Amino acid sequence: MTATAPREGELWSRCAGCASLLYRKRLRRNLDVCPECGEHARLAAPERLRQLVDPESFTPLPDRAAEVDPIEFVDVLSYPHRLSAARAGTGLAEAVVCGTATIGRHPCALAVMDFRFLGGSLGAAVGELITLAAERALEDAVPLVLVTASGGARMQEGALSLMQMATVSQAIAALREAGLLTVSVLTDPTYGGVAASFATNTDLVLAESGARMGFAGPRVIRQVTGRELPEGFQTAAFLLRHGQVDMVVPRHALRGRLVALLAAARAGRRPASRPAVPRQEPAPAARPAALVAPPVVDAAPADAWETVRLARHPGRPTTLDYLDTAFEGFVELHGDRLGGDCPAVVGGLARLDGRHLMVIGHQKGHTTGELVARNFGMASPAGHRKALRLMRLAARLGLPVVTLVDTPGADPGVAAEEQGQAAAIAENILSLSMLPTPVVAVITGEGGSGGALALAVADRVLMLQHAVYSVISPEGCAAILWPDRGAAPQAARALRLTAPDLCRLGVVDDLVPEPVPAAHHDPEATARALREAVLAHLLPLLDVPPATLVRRRRQRFRRFGAARAGARAGAR
Ligand SMILES: [Zn+2]
Repeated sequence: MTATAPREGELWSRCAGCASLLYRKRLRRNLDVCPECGEHARLAAPERLRQLVDPESFTPLPDRAAEVDPIEFVDVLSYPHRLSAARAGTGLAEAVVCGTATIGRHPCALAVMDFRFLGGSLGAAVGELITLAAERALEDAVPLVLVTASGGARMQEGALSLMQMATVSQAIAALREAGLLTVSVLTDPTYGGVAASFATNTDLVLAESGARMGFAGPRVIRQVTGRELPEGFQTAAFLLRHGQVDMVVPRHALRGRLVALLAAARAGRRPASRPAVPRQEPAPAARPAALVAPPVVDAAPADAWETVRLARHPGRPTTLDYLDTAFEGFVELHGDRLGGDCPAVVGGLARLDGRHLMVIGHQKGHTTGELVARNFGMASPAGHRKALRLMRLAARLGLPVVTLVDTPGADPGVAAEEQGQAAAIAENILSLSMLPTPVVAVITGEGGSGGALALAVADRVLMLQHAVYSVISPEGCAAILWPDRGAAPQAARALRLTAPDLCRLGVVDDLVPEPVPAAHHDPEATARALREAVLAHLLPLLDVPPATLVRRRRQRFRRFGAARAGARAGAR
């Protein structure tokens, strides 16, 4: 456990590392690092900024954190109630503080997360604020420095929280295209959706001593695998050993290290090339105007928990089933070229109504044996890297990409963490937001958190009628926010994870109807519906120039920021 930084007015504080009683002023002078044992206490964002930037140089970005409760989430407490408590407790408007500053007289834009604020969770307002900081960096042509501290997604905002991983990643993609340095500093702890996006898809990743980073948390991995975790699992030293961070830096050296990196970036920077993607354009219409009628939303929607059960039905068609029925001429391509071929992801060349394309999807199975062999459709880092390889190949060949998403989530295992699960997901999200070819994603069964999004940053996102798409499983959400696990059905309702809910929120563009009672009852009819829906959405994209496609794709995900969420809610 880590000590929290001492509060104002306390003279003494006890180190959580060695239990020494320390004089508070001495501890502060030592940057809240225990002089006895070296334990790095967690820092509040304002204190972190004080330590890193030149005195008086920080200018906060205009505060745009809107009051949002996009899905009106209630567990034992309402979300607005939790938000106000966090605001009162921290004196901050949100879980991140953003602005511009100089570090060693090098100008930069910064976003510093604060774990005290709802565990530094990634809500729409946080995503919006970090995106604005990145856009400011682009505008000023300066590097972006991110200091992360987060438990992951903010489940009270459901799939809109998940979308923030894409929103911020594409802002980072724009900086990459403009040749501007992005640096993330991982601090303790950095997990989940933050780890699997902007914490690891920056140019340089620094880990502060004592920081832990991973996609799945140690408790979840222990629970799922039933195994004890290796010594030092997910610590900074572990991350360095497994090639996942550039360096581990003790707190007292952090500022100096950033100065050196910013100086190098400034010296090496060639005359500014303007970004390929213009910043401000009117938001596109939520769905393709002419071709597709508004989604057919069932007049009497099924209960969300019932939908979860249908989405997980073992008879539900899998990606290989669809490749056999909805597509023609599938040629499977294997391997990530880095040492693995993940069975939970399948992909290759296929045809749809005679048109060549690349199809990539999660593969589950119908029997226990098949499910085990396919790791229940939970991709390893090798699976994500295979998907990435095929997406890039498609772009090079000028072929569109269709993804079929059906996963409980990314593989929560020790090996997956060793092999860089978070960074693999993050790289896919970033690359999809830059991919110069049409991408249509279909959530066919379970769309589970970052593992699903790694295949779903697309020009069009479709969803089968009884599929679900969620930032966390209802069981996981119930275990965290409700007194007992039995609350999964309530959590399923609160998360707004059904297709009609997500169409309403704009996360999904169109709903693919299923036969009564659901896809497993008539797989062939389902395949026909999927094929028609994909064609209807894909064909209009084929004539769009790649640069325009990429620009619109980014606008699509840019809409999920707080300001937009507020505007949408107001417009209803
Ligand atoms: Zn100590």
